Amino acid sequence: MDNRREPFTPNRLFAPGPTPTPAVVKAAYQQTDIYHRSKEFETLVKECSEMLKRLFGTTTQPVLLTSSGTGAMEAAVVNLTSPGDEVIVLSCGKFGERWQKIAANYECQVQMVTAPNGKVPTVTDLKEALKRCPKPRAVFFQAHETSTGVRLPVEELAAAIRALSKDIMIIVDAVSSLGAHEIKMDQWSLDCVISGSQKGFGVGPGLSFVALSNRAWQDLSKRSRFYFDLEKERKGQETGRTAYTPAINLVLGLHAALVEISQLGVDQFLAHHERLGRATRAAVAALGLELFVDTNAISNTLTAIKVPSAINGADVLTFAKARYGAIISGGQDDLKGKIIRFSHLGFVSPFQLIEGLAALEFALSDAGWEFQIGVGVSAAMIELHRHR
Ligand SMILES: *Cc1c(COP(=O)(O)O)cnc(C)c1O
Repeated sequence: MDNRREPFTPNRLFAPGPTPTPAVVKAAYQQTDIYHRSKEFETLVKECSEMLKRLFGTTTQPVLLTSSGTGAMEAAVVNLTSPGDEVIVLSCGKFGERWQKIAANYECQVQMVTAPNGKVPTVTDLKEALKRCPKPRAVFFQAHETSTGVRLPVEELAAAIRALSKDIMIIVDAVSSLGAHEIKMDQWSLDCVISGSQKGFGVGPGLSFVALSNRAWQDLSKRSRFYFDLEKERKGQETGRTAYTPAINLVLGLHAALVEISQLGVDQFLAHHERLGRATRAAVAALGLELFVDTNAISNTLTAIKVPSAINGADVLTFAKARYGAIISGGQDDLKGKIIRFSHLGFVSPFQLIEGLAALEFALSDAGWEFQIGVGVSAAMIELHRHR
């Protein structure tokens, strides 16, 4: 079959970042010639961090950085660890490995706890690691591992660490989690939570956010640093002044996105992700496919689907994009061709979800998977309707 495109079909993102940009954000980008040292702009920065507090579940002020999410990961390592510190990294995929690489680059002694692909690092694994390494400076993990679609039990992991010590820094990468899953930074005693603009916020890539606990602010490392100096940013951003020129247009977009989220209500935003996640999982089951992750790790950010051995996973993704305009992700490295990652993170409407699932159905059918066309979309619609 050729890759003839359906008429009038735009590309749509169903990848776990960047996520689709809503119209209000696109409109906000349009303003130009804005000076970042103006009262108006500084007010916007302050309002952004106010609105972010609720998503992070904290009363301390999150700091905005101009960088992708990895910059915020690096900022966490640089500001909270010192050379030679022992740290534990709980990893279950590519982003867990990234914590390890950054910490090792900054001369931390890294103890890895690695769960197999699609599995979640457990409290038992963590306790074992804490026996081998009882006084780590920090424990790093993801709230959601985007490479496999595994959601980690953040609250339980944090509680297990706190049961042992008040002093261990608990550092959580919530880049692909904020908005889709509740994070209660203060209540769960997390010391550092990071996120980024191009995931749950529906804003283009280039902004990241770092929230620290009061304890972490008082116990920053002595390591030398320059661009990612969180203390310098915090002091300036109390009045909305970033240390350097920020990505001004992205900040305008972020403000618009956060206003949308606040107007809907953060609880409703989270519930919306749950609803889309459920609908997608219902579609997967109806199509005779299986989820890649166990029920204890179900994600409302994205749905990772096992590619049945009867079909070629790469074909599904190629057909989805070329013929139906749906940009869906696959697996990386060992998981290449083995999983499909269908994202429903950020500003995805129920109707956009249906479009994406329809494209996925056509592509699966083109790749040779046998099922009755429409069963997936139908199951998703029933689920969406039930939870209106
Ligand atoms: C996207 C993502 C990041 C950051 O990646 P960037 O490409 O640097 O924005 C970090 N962690 C997780 C879990 C992610 O999904």
